[in-house]
Amino acid sequence: MKTKVQLEGEIGALKREVDALRLRAPDGMADSQRRMTETLHNLQVHQEELRAQNEELHQAQGNIEKVSARYRDLFEYSPVGYFIIDDKLAVVDANITGMGMLGRTKGRIAGKPFLLFIDKKCRYDLDAHYVTVRSVGRASSELWLLPDQRPPFPVILESVRLGDGWGDGWRCLSTAIDITDRKRAELALQESETRFRAIFEQSPLAIQIVDAESVPRMSNRSWVKLWGRASTAPPTDGRHPVLDRIGAASLLQEGLAGRSLELPAIHVAADGERGESRWMHGYAYPIRGQDDTIPEVVLVHEDITERKRIELALTEQTALLRRQYENLRVLSEIAALPSGPAPQKLADALDLGRRHLALSTGMISRIEGNRFTVEHYSAAEDMAWAEGTVFDLASTYCALVIEQDDVVAIAHWTRSPYADHPCYRAHGLESYVGAPIRIRGKTYGTVNFGSATPSPRDFDDGDREFMRLLARWIGAVLEEDAIRRDLARSNAELEQFAYIASHDLRSPLRQVSSYVSLLDRRYGDKLDADARDFIAFAHDGAVRMDQLVVDLLEFSRVGRNAKPVEPVALSEVVHEACANLHSNIIDANGKVSIVGTLPVINGAASDLVRLLQNLIGNAIKYSLPERPPVVNISAVTRPMSNVLTVRDNGIGIEQIYHDTIFGVFKRLHTPDKYEGTGIGLAICKKIIDQHNGRIWVESKPGEGTAFHMEFPRSS
Ligand code: ADP
Repeated sequence: MKTKVQLEGEIGALKREVDALRLRAPDGMADSQRRMTETLHNLQVHQEELRAQNEELHQAQGNIEKVSARYRDLFEYSPVGYFIIDDKLAVVDANITGMGMLGRTKGRIAGKPFLLFIDKKCRYDLDAHYVTVRSVGRASSELWLLPDQRPPFPVILESVRLGDGWGDGWRCLSTAIDITDRKRAELALQESETRFRAIFEQSPLAIQIVDAESVPRMSNRSWVKLWGRASTAPPTDGRHPVLDRIGAASLLQEGLAGRSLELPAIHVAADGERGESRWMHGYAYPIRGQDDTIPEVVLVHEDITERKRIELALTEQTALLRRQYENLRVLSEIAALPSGPAPQKLADALDLGRRHLALSTGMISRIEGNRFTVEHYSAAEDMAWAEGTVFDLASTYCALVIEQDDVVAIAHWTRSPYADHPCYRAHGLESYVGAPIRIRGKTYGTVNFGSATPSPRDFDDGDREFMRLLARWIGAVLEEDAIRRDLARSNAELEQFAYIASHDLRSPLRQVSSYVSLLDRRYGDKLDADARDFIAFAHDGAVRMDQLVVDLLEFSRVGRNAKPVEPVALSEVVHEACANLHSNIIDANGKVSIVGTLPVINGAASDLVRLLQNLIGNAIKYSLPERPPVVNISAVTRPMSNVLTVRDNGIGIEQIYHDTIFGVFKRLHTPDKYEGTGIGLAICKKIIDQHNGRIWVESKPGEGTAFHMEFPRSS
């Protein structure tokens, strides 16, 4: 295609040709005419071509403008900052992002040295950057831009030298990418790396990181200190001599297989690198890569020797405590043995003791001089010894107890320092524990347990203390028993005396009263009124005296012959007492009732009837003339006892007499007002004492009286 300039040249030539033809027209008109037509035609063709070309040109220009606008848009709105820099390092142009980065308008940037917009600390770097651009054609640097009113921020500055055509100098296009976020992430990474390092290095745990090829990659100080430098060496022939020895090889295998593992404590022998026995706890944690591979395994060893020591000490202490608890439990069981005859109690205690100590025999011995007597005996199986068997003390195990005056406890006799003692030849016990029994500071004998086989466990301080306490308890029981027996003996003697005395007193009394009666019968009519009165007084005195003696006799009889203790229904007791008092109740127009229910208690039935009879009898007797007696009997059951109450609406008792009325011959009234001997309540008190109970009174004169009796539930 012809260019526009060519076409215009050709059109000009044609026009000139037409003009020339016109000038020459007269000479060859026809020829000229033809040529003119031809020329005109060409002219038209050219004109047409020119127009077409014009149009094309126009279109091309339009396209160029569009492209140029697009490039401008790309330049301006790119998310990357663009700066055109000239050879004086001044900013020629900057796109919108670039302006935004610098926080300035184009007017404040254009023509200014780029250096002004760079943080001071990296201005030197900027110079170096452009020196490189100039010489090599491109450069890339990390710099800090300094925006207006904002703190500097990091960018990657990439510059390329632009093609020539910029006059004398050169220009370059610098792109700036904001890397604040990347920088922050890098910093965070760095910090976390520093932190990890610090933790890793300073950790008291021994840590090693091993890669997928079983090669140790990192070992912290504790690891090296614990297992030595050799443990950080790579395996040879697939084996880690140190890891194998410290039990880490299995941890590693598990870790490489993707499993976390926690090894129970391992015991590093004294010949280990640390030269002492240690307890170690091992862990392995696989580190998973993104594609679920195991690039590394973390091995951790924790020295738990101290913890283990404490654990062991604690276990020992717990066992000791448990045994102490058991000792106490058995002792309290022994202390709570039901009150009863001492021999039974002691036999039960021996039973409990030998079971508790897991030994087959138990005995209480009496030692007098060199005489050793078996007093109480308990055995798992029949043994030849019987109570009353006598030994020579020197041939018994207890000789050692007496010698040492303290507990002797030996779990395995033949291994003890006393293996050659004659007692072993005599009795052959393999395990023995014995303690001295003292009564009032004097050695009485021993309590001891033994077996023909060694004890299943060693005896400890707890067992020794158990024996001491048991011996004290046995001492107390024996002492109490001795006191009780002494007391019983002296009581029996006293009662015997009272019985005989009162019994013997009655015959002279009967003699007095029969002679007084005889006197009255024979000489009554011969005597004056005064003398007859005197005879009547003497007779009354003798009768009263006899009643006193009878009551005293009854008082001395209470508990004399041990009556059987049996369950007794108190309601029946009340009925029987009321039956005995029937006429008294009727005469007094009285009313006796049971309020609620009465319990069954353990006691001597006949004594309990006597007790209730005395109390109900008094309640009827000591009533007010204007108020017929009303007697209510009730009971309250408490956890440890039953309390029985006899309440009346009679004359009442003044507070000052509440304690004294239970004494023998204690009366508050003269016989002419209320009959009586003053022994009734003393008998009640004696019966209650026999039942290990207590009796007390509550009363208000003129309102009534309540007698309360407490009976222990175990008796
Ligand atoms: P007595 O033979 O005199 O009745 P007791 O020993 O039975 O002897 O009683 C002692 C004293 O207690 C009585 O003399 C009486 O004064 C007083 N007493 C006993 N029971 C009652 C009662 N229920 N109400 C008022 N006083 C009483």
